[in-house]
Amino acid sequence: QEDEGFYLERLKADKIDFLQIQFTDITGHLKSLTVPKNRFEDVLYDGITFDGSSIPGFKPIENSDMKAMPDLSTYTIISQNSLGKTARFISKIFNPDGTRFDGDPRYVLERQIDRLKKENKHFYIGPEIEYFIFKRDDKNRPTVIPSDQGVYFDKNTDSSILLKEEIVKRLEDIDYYPEASHHEVAPGQHEIDVKYADAITMADRLIVIKSIVKDVAAKHGYYATFMPKPIKGINGSGMHVHQSIFNGDNNAFYDENNRYGLSKYALSYIAGILKNIKGASPILAPLVNSYKRLVPGYEAPVYICWANRNRSALVRVPAPSGKAKRIELRFPDSTGNHYLQFAVMLGMGLDGIENKAEIPDPVERNVFEMPLNERAELGIETMPGSLGEAIKEMERSETIKEILGEHIFENYIKLKRMEWEDYTTYVTDWEINRYLEVY
Ligand code: GLN
Ligand code: MG
Ligand code: MG
Ligand code: MG
Repeated sequence: QEDEGFYLERLKADKIDFLQIQFTDITGHLKSLTVPKNRFEDVLYDGITFDGSSIPGFKPIENSDMKAMPDLSTYTIISQNSLGKTARFISKIFNPDGTRFDGDPRYVLERQIDRLKKENKHFYIGPEIEYFIFKRDDKNRPTVIPSDQGVYFDKNTDSSILLKEEIVKRLEDIDYYPEASHHEVAPGQHEIDVKYADAITMADRLIVIKSIVKDVAAKHGYYATFMPKPIKGINGSGMHVHQSIFNGDNNAFYDENNRYGLSKYALSYIAGILKNIKGASPILAPLVNSYKRLVPGYEAPVYICWANRNRSALVRVPAPSGKAKRIELRFPDSTGNHYLQFAVMLGMGLDGIENKAEIPDPVERNVFEMPLNERAELGIETMPGSLGEAIKEMERSETIKEILGEHIFENYIKLKRMEWEDYTTYVTDWEINRYLEVY
């Protein structure tokens, strides 16, 4: 572990002009404070203080002098322009009395990972990040007109190849190991995949990855969005999350002699996810709009089941084996707080392992086409159909409360309920179009 002195030298050697001290609020918005060169030393040693009461869900006003201490291992050069070079550190948040703050989402993930550390295990994440590229209008405002008419893996109709190569290049420059970038199923829709990393590192990186995608699209005159379902009737954008647990060099999810090459450990992990997932849905799919993606027919899961290959299932087991054995959760989208998303995934899986949850049979058929009575016979339940339903499921879940801790659990529900109520009382264009002249 390198110290403050090392990073002060590093900042000089890399000719950094600005430092951003970053963290996320509980729903996943990136917070950032920029400091110029003359403050680098102070900030590395002493952190920054900020007003916790001005961040929704953080702290009441009476006692709100919070401190953000940079985690030195998160050093990344994030941008360079005519003004200079900018690097960032993600920080850990402390209370006025110096203790760790329970409302810091990164701390929630750290605590889940500590459960594994005791057994010398590591939690790895590989995300597939989907997004749309839209055109801007003549006043430079974003529209929902796709940048191209391409389909899955298209090359010739894809006008964004250069743009996407620039994204890949920028991710390579900062050693994030981009693995693939391709056109997705819907017009204007794309995906970027990066090599797996431990869960905290990946959550730290996702913040940068999403902003690079947006930056580069803007630079090319377009607009990139991770909004889950910007257009009705075509695929939405999700974030499939590949997960595995390693014991040193050994993949704890792999057992060549067991069902589907999955160890008993992995089967119990999947069972834990299926058992607890309803209560985790506001964390995994956090927006009103998320639930418009999660409808039958668009490769996004609706029913609670797992499968070996079948892409209509909520949990899928991709083909590779040995070290690459992993499970894929297809429900999440990338608009959530990634620290909390990875924390609930791991926490649900560990709950399955600790309580020896029973794994149901895999479902190898297209569940979107299965009649309701057959699903009922097989005991296949349905995920919440709206943010409102999802919040109710979360409120009932002791497992999720345990994972998130009281502070985040309560404040998260409060904020999401406000969002849901705001939406349900809003009179939409759909209603005006459908009702105004008819009645
Ligand atoms: N876009 C789909 C989703 O919403 C996934 C499609 C795919 O990756 N094959 O999850
Ligand atoms: Mg993919
Ligand atoms: Mg995809
Ligand atoms: Mg996938």
